[in-house]
Amino acid sequence: MFRKMCYMTVIILILILVIYFSISIKQKRSDSCYHIIANQIINNKFSGYRLDKEILVKNDKIVLISNNIKTPSGCEIVRLPESTIIPGLIDTHTHILFFEKNYDINFSTELVRSDREDGKFFRFACAILRARSYLEAGITTVRDLGNSGYFWDVKLKKMIDSGIVEGPRMYVSGPGIATRYGQFPSDTPKSTVLKEYQLVETNEDVESQVELHMRSGTDLIKVYANNSPGEGAISFDLLSKIVSYSHQKGLKVAAHAEFDEEAKKAAIAGVDSIEHGYELSESTLSLMASNKIFLVPTYFSKQMYSFIFENTVPGKHRYSPYLIDYVFKKREWIIRKAIQAGVPIAFGSDMYFHLQSKGESIGRFSKDTLVAYSELGLLPEEILRMATQASANLVDNSKKLGIIEEGAIADIIALNGDPIKDIRSINQVSFVMKNGIMLKKTCIYCSLLGKICK
Ligand SMILES: [Zn+2]
Repeated sequence: MFRKMCYMTVIILILILVIYFSISIKQKRSDSCYHIIANQIINNKFSGYRLDKEILVKNDKIVLISNNIKTPSGCEIVRLPESTIIPGLIDTHTHILFFEKNYDINFSTELVRSDREDGKFFRFACAILRARSYLEAGITTVRDLGNSGYFWDVKLKKMIDSGIVEGPRMYVSGPGIATRYGQFPSDTPKSTVLKEYQLVETNEDVESQVELHMRSGTDLIKVYANNSPGEGAISFDLLSKIVSYSHQKGLKVAAHAEFDEEAKKAAIAGVDSIEHGYELSESTLSLMASNKIFLVPTYFSKQMYSFIFENTVPGKHRYSPYLIDYVFKKREWIIRKAIQAGVPIAFGSDMYFHLQSKGESIGRFSKDTLVAYSELGLLPEEILRMATQASANLVDNSKKLGIIEEGAIADIIALNGDPIKDIRSINQVSFVMKNGIMLKKTCIYCSLLGKICK
């Protein structure tokens, strides 16, 4: 009864918010203007600083960058004298609507648990909270890749676009396309599987699935080149059909591929990105480079592994310090070889742990992957470029995203500190603007949602 009342309160609150935000956003949209004055702006090569320190934003665009802007009348001045400005970050591999509560026990078991225990309300309440936390962390765009219920990601995206809730610009895949049981264990009822995955067995299935995704409003297709940690893998013929039919319809294809065999298969089929790529051979990397296929290395930092150790039931986790050293050496080799070969690389966190109960923010933890890239030997300028311009090229190259220049979308963040000197300063976010709208410091619905999302 108490839970039901809580849910009712949330619904009423959300309705109030709909009205509040639609009014405030409409007012802002018509004539918003900000004159931002920072300590420094990092240049577009991320190798140093621009001479200019001031940005003029009108509505959703950067209209002028200069060193001495005369503030137009009615324009709000934003002074950030201690801050470094960079473009809003882009996380190209998120799962905003999925929550692993039992860190690192088993992803496929966790899927079954989530289906049994996490109702739609819980998943939405947490997703709304998470969406806000991405923005707070300076992640202004995400590409959300499934495990989000039956097209619930499209619903969340619409809520954000219409201003009902605050969150990053979302590009969504809807349920991933797979064979057999998707990532579920092979004894899972099909009715459960079909909530999270769309299954294909024939070319006709592929066509109807891609069309269903288009009708439902997804921006891209996610395919499971293999179902790991579940069993089975899609055939090369079906994978090729998914890629050719999606491309024919104007949709990009992201392929879940943890190991070399399926990554190579996906690269030959012509997908747009290989997700994870925990094991990749030199020949697969050179194939990816020549076909301009992105690698999205969803790696954890050492701090993230410690977090898993501390929060996992003793004896249950799969990692040991020896294994982590081994994993890091392997990943260091992959990422270096990928850069040498000319494989485009985008930032993707794959952060789906339920951190609310630990008092942690999913947005902040997602950026931990950038620290992992640094631990693997990448330079700050390489990491910053990956997390902005390169990710923008993967997600949507029709818009000017991931760049600070005149005519670009006004996704701007400010950091207290200098990420070129120390990449960890990406955790000191002092200002966030998405689409020309400044993120408010207070979140009026967050504490209530926080009570539900435990
Ligand atoms: Zn993922």
